[in-house]
Amino acid sequence: MITTDLLIIGAGPTGLFAVFEAGLLKIKCHIIDALPQPGGQLAELYPKKPIFDIPGYPSVLAGELVDNLMEQIKQFEPGFTLGETAVTLNKLEDGSFEVVTNKGTIHRAKAVAIAGGLGTFEPRKPQLENIADFEEKGVEYFVKNPELFRDKKIIIAGGGDSALDWSIFLSNVASSVTLVHRRNEFRGALDSVEKVQELKNAGKIKLITPAEIVGIQGNGHLESVTIDQEGNQYQVEADYFIPLFGLTPKLGEIANWGLEIEKNAIKVNNALDYQTNIDGVYAIGDVNTYPGKLKLILCGFHEATLMCQSVYNRMNPGRKYVLKYTTVSGVDGFDGTRKEAEKQVVKKID
Ligand SMILES: Cc1cc2nc3c(=O)[nH]c(=O)nc-3n(C[C@H](O)[C@H](O)[C@H](O)COP(=O)(O)OP(=O)(O)OC[C@H]3O[C@@H](n4cnc5c(N)ncnc54)[C@H](O)[C@@H]3O)c2cc1C
Repeated sequence: MITTDLLIIGAGPTGLFAVFEAGLLKIKCHIIDALPQPGGQLAELYPKKPIFDIPGYPSVLAGELVDNLMEQIKQFEPGFTLGETAVTLNKLEDGSFEVVTNKGTIHRAKAVAIAGGLGTFEPRKPQLENIADFEEKGVEYFVKNPELFRDKKIIIAGGGDSALDWSIFLSNVASSVTLVHRRNEFRGALDSVEKVQELKNAGKIKLITPAEIVGIQGNGHLESVTIDQEGNQYQVEADYFIPLFGLTPKLGEIANWGLEIEKNAIKVNNALDYQTNIDGVYAIGDVNTYPGKLKLILCGFHEATLMCQSVYNRMNPGRKYVLKYTTVSGVDGFDGTRKEAEKQVVKKID
């Protein structure tokens, strides 16, 4: 069982920044995310797209922003349960909360922040009638651990960034990588398309377009796929088939936790602290709704900041918190580090 002060559901930018703000208040955090990596939409949907509306960054790549957030929170040593979906939330008799994941991991916390964005991303699955028989037996919708594919014959299907990026990466891991796409054109970052072309020319990636996977076969584990290339069907040996057709967001189990939901989002008290109708459960970032709500990263950062003050008051009843700028107070990491401005930078005015 994992115990913490503040349990955050969702490792998108909002959830990650909440760890920083909580850390300043000496609140320990643990994050659960259904995806195998942190970063939410930024990491999963548009890691290589520039963002222009983060204060202080005229331009920053989404993936870079996630890396920076991870660097910023490292000092507060958050725990992570990745690749697991939070499926139940229960309030215990002592006022604390228990959250259990689809893999049975139990988390206990004094407060819960739902930073679930648009919900969990469900992979779009190919229309193959026996696909469920091969899930985790040769069919993988995410690349959680690239080592699984070492020296294996891999078929990747898709035409976006994920299909391109994983084809590039796995060409150095797998014994063979075949990329199948129903069009000749790919919709991905230019440098990724060029890299795939380069690897194809070098014989490290086999490209089959325009084509589709129309069948999968095997005895207990995937052994081959059937490819339809402009009406010509043939089988290709495969240890793994990775369809990367994008993800559909779903609020999922969160909708059954007794929270007030409006238009697929959680209603919160935005006049105070982004608390939901359940005392001690907050909702921040894209997952919440209130009058005037904007689904923007910087709004999630703001909400996380105010929420943490409320969690502090909840954990320290009667104790007054005096706001100090980090330039003045410094930042004491849980890992023993301390960041502080040089004395000449912080000048006292009497
Ligand atoms: C193409 C695109 C471009 C964008 N460009 C910009 C931009 O330029 N500027 C800007 O400000 N915003 C932009 N946005 C919006 C921005 O991405 C979102 O506002 C931001 O991602 C919200 O962050 P979040 O942390 O609230 O949620 P998310 O990033 O959605 O992260 C939520 C996380 O919660 C996890 N999760 C959900 N439910 C569960 C559960 N039950 N158990 C475990 N984990 C769960 C999900 O797996 C996900 O990782 C863009 C969005 C898109 C799609």
